[in-house]
Amino acid sequence: MDQKSLFTAALGLTQPWEVWGTRFQPEEKRLDISIGFPRGSLFTCPVCGSPGAKAHDTEEKSWRHLDFFQHETWLTARVPRVRCNRGCGVKSIQVPWARPDSGFTLLFEALIMAFAPEMPVAQIAEHLGVHDTRLWRIIRHHVSEARKDLDMSKVGRVGMDETASRRGHNYISLFFDMDDGRLLFATSGKNSNTVEEFAKDLASHKGTPKSILQTCCDMSPAFISGIEKQFPQAEITFDRFHIMKIVNDAVDQVRREETTTQPQLKKTRYIWLKNPENLTVRQQTTLGSLTDLHLKTARAYQIKLTIQELFLQPSREEGEAFLKRWYFWATHSRLPPIVSAAKTIKKHWDGVLNWFDSQLTSGLVEGFNSLLQAAKARARGYRTNENFIAMAYLIGSRLDFALPT
Ligand SMILES: [Zn+2]
Repeated sequence: MDQKSLFTAALGLTQPWEVWGTRFQPEEKRLDISIGFPRGSLFTCPVCGSPGAKAHDTEEKSWRHLDFFQHETWLTARVPRVRCNRGCGVKSIQVPWARPDSGFTLLFEALIMAFAPEMPVAQIAEHLGVHDTRLWRIIRHHVSEARKDLDMSKVGRVGMDETASRRGHNYISLFFDMDDGRLLFATSGKNSNTVEEFAKDLASHKGTPKSILQTCCDMSPAFISGIEKQFPQAEITFDRFHIMKIVNDAVDQVRREETTTQPQLKKTRYIWLKNPENLTVRQQTTLGSLTDLHLKTARAYQIKLTIQELFLQPSREEGEAFLKRWYFWATHSRLPPIVSAAKTIKKHWDGVLNWFDSQLTSGLVEGFNSLLQAAKARARGYRTNENFIAMAYLIGSRLDFALPT
């Protein structure tokens, strides 16, 4: 096999395409491969699919290809416009190794898609010597193409949550299939339209709103009213992580208010967030030194520790009886933040108790959020929510990219 046939085979070129020449410039660390087709070759008409279209004229195009041994590699070809014998007019053909208007070969794009979930895009761009906005365009393209094939027809239980996208109050909302742990949909913001956007996306992927029977979320009105409108059949379970967050925040508010009279409470925030068995030795000592002070914070802490036992109750009935006792205690604590947290729970009573039937928690969602936030930290943030969402799909949706390997 001569060098040209060897390269033709290595690139996987098919008739009539063949390698015409290679130019290697070691000092430039660059390899150029020129591709062509024999005079008189016939192409498939891009309009009617007839195989008898002849080249009318050509235009030279180049594509960045996978590097060969750290040599930047470029393919160049004269791409024909063809004239079909069935009168389809003069049309540009699509080359088999690249997407229309992409300056990269499909193999190069496949490499980018393989690296992108593992490595910051800016870093990949630097290695390849290209601008990262070009890589992001490729990533967003393939993510959006692959999402077209998502099948949501079997989705019946959905978990939703938000995650911070940039500094300040920028969020994206995420929707998960709670049965197979897959990210179904992500969108900017969290407002009254967010669930509706998801419902539309679900419907455009063979999903049926009527099949959604269970949902899991926090107590925000945006999610609650969205679910009630879009998925009237669905039962809501308020996630226990969010319930605990409400109570933990109340404990911390009691602590901050009490700090004015009890300065020992300064810098003890993290002690009260944990359960006693998870405290470090030093934190245990600090907690011990505070016990004789009859602190309001300590009372609030006991109330918080107790509500955790809700999730240990053997049945919904016993759970409800337990929650009633807890509610009575909390609302008689004379600790305003705790009273207010208890009232929030009362307002969402059924959704809190629905956990006993659905057993849904956003553990899976929280786990995904921390993966996504870790990727964001490695990348030192993303310029746009669009890119952040593309990354979320890349990490969480198990997409199938129709790309060569
Ligand atoms: Zn034709």
